[in-house]
Amino acid sequence: MKNTWDLSFLYKGFEDEAFQADLARLPEAIVEQKAILDSDLPVQEKLEKLMDADEALSLLMDRLFNFAGLTLATDAGNGTAQQYEDKLSVIANDASLVGSAITRFVGSIENLEEIIAASEKLQPIAFALREMKQSAAHVIPAEIEPWMLQMRLSGGSAFSQLRDKLDSTHTVDFRGESLPLPAVRGMAYDGDASVRKDAYEAEIASYKKIELPMSYCLNSIKMEARTMAKAKGYDSVLDMTLDQNRMDRETLEAMITAIKEYLPHFRRYLRAKAAYLGHEDGLPFYDLFAPVGKASKAYTIEEAREVLLREMGKFTPAMAQFMDNAFEQRWIDVYPKEGKGGGAFCAGAHEYDRSLILTNFQGSFSDISTLAHELGHAWHNRCMAGLPYCLTGTPMPLAETASIFNETMLAHQVLKNASAEEQFTLLESSLMEVTQTCVDILSRYLFETEVIDTRADHAMTVDELKDAMLRAQDATYGDGLAKDVRHPYMWACKSHYYSSGLNFYNFPYAFGELFGKGVFAQYLKEGDAFVPKYNQLLRSCGSGTIAEVAASVGIDVRNPDFWRASLEVVKAEIDTFCQLCEKQ
Ligand SMILES: [Zn+2]
Repeated sequence: MKNTWDLSFLYKGFEDEAFQADLARLPEAIVEQKAILDSDLPVQEKLEKLMDADEALSLLMDRLFNFAGLTLATDAGNGTAQQYEDKLSVIANDASLVGSAITRFVGSIENLEEIIAASEKLQPIAFALREMKQSAAHVIPAEIEPWMLQMRLSGGSAFSQLRDKLDSTHTVDFRGESLPLPAVRGMAYDGDASVRKDAYEAEIASYKKIELPMSYCLNSIKMEARTMAKAKGYDSVLDMTLDQNRMDRETLEAMITAIKEYLPHFRRYLRAKAAYLGHEDGLPFYDLFAPVGKASKAYTIEEAREVLLREMGKFTPAMAQFMDNAFEQRWIDVYPKEGKGGGAFCAGAHEYDRSLILTNFQGSFSDISTLAHELGHAWHNRCMAGLPYCLTGTPMPLAETASIFNETMLAHQVLKNASAEEQFTLLESSLMEVTQTCVDILSRYLFETEVIDTRADHAMTVDELKDAMLRAQDATYGDGLAKDVRHPYMWACKSHYYSSGLNFYNFPYAFGELFGKGVFAQYLKEGDAFVPKYNQLLRSCGSGTIAEVAASVGIDVRNPDFWRASLEVVKAEIDTFCQLCEKQ
């Protein structure tokens, strides 16, 4: 079995004639699309031609970007790939300006519904067209758009780049050695308690060096977000973000209400873990990720494949077959190597009904879980096969549905046959993660809300930011965390606060986690009859608002009861964990 992925279905290499031809074609395709837009064709014909051109352009960009980006993902030092990727990004800017112009054009069509009704070509993509018409109301006016985009380069984007530079050059003095921040933060998972504590203390002390410029980055990026929201005609940054996510306030509030209700249970878990590790009054921040129990067994990739096929095949044989095929056809780049990025991801090549998965497999059970997660994304892509490209864009909160579903399914199956000891370790690692996606995410949401609101009045000082962070942790972790051992600098270490153009990059995580779990609960209730509904749900993720997509499988995301049901599953795990803790 070959354990690197195969990209040859895209191109044989950068010298491949097909690659060079596509690259040459790209700017022409953009010019042609602009020419259609500027022509005086009748509206319906113009719209049909524009959408055809858009489909072709999207697929073309997908091929080129995938090939350059995926080559770089396993070979960061590949200068040729880097050059082509830079070149593509410049051309893509022209495409996005034409994109804005098309949105304005669709926004100006008053009888859009009549035109859709009259066109067989446009009917299947009606959702995308209606959404364009709506978003035209929130496009920056054409006269100032180029200037605002320019200012952004020296504003939010520049601060975002500065943040990355500060972060990547930041060092921490750990036991007399100067180490990069990720290395020291990674020690939170160390088996040795004194390493975890020393690493935490060294990390907190290190932020003094960068706190001032970091605070300027954060204040400026959030100020720009306020300005952008206003320029686009939104009442608030949150409204703009929800709109980008096709989500409504009622849904967000229902989810947050339910999470808040279950905070006491999360705190119970944290206190039980604290007691297990020998702490009297809540968990010190540095032990949030402490491993508990015995390290579980190590797996080869062949064994991992067997586990996945056996356990996921119980959902549907088609899933097992799909996964087997992914291994067989080399969709997966399995092992870590020099020049390959960390973590894991899945990228879709829609046109070819294929996905590419990058992992850094080292043989732990959590690595198998990662494979299940990424293969879930791939299954989601499979369910969308054949759709027009403009209906394949899944909003962030729904994008983790299939991946979380797979992770939950795998854990559910494996727990059934695990020994008490294995159960303890598996449960704890699952609770550790869900505590992050619910409790920590809520603290980030509260913190970001405060920063954005306060920014209307003034830029927050370092002390104000630290204070706001501690209050957000207090409101969420509560007595689950030890009183004086928290993390006042979480705003300086999480990159999520600093992408200009992407705000509240937190609640979609909680949504994804709880929605995936809720869908799984629905499957447990309905059994095999749920499988086709599930696949249809995934297929429709880019063809409706979040509430509409969820309603298609009978889920009401605006009702806190849906979220409570997902959290009940977590609560049951917490109960079991606390019982096992007492026995240990
Ligand atoms: Zn994912």
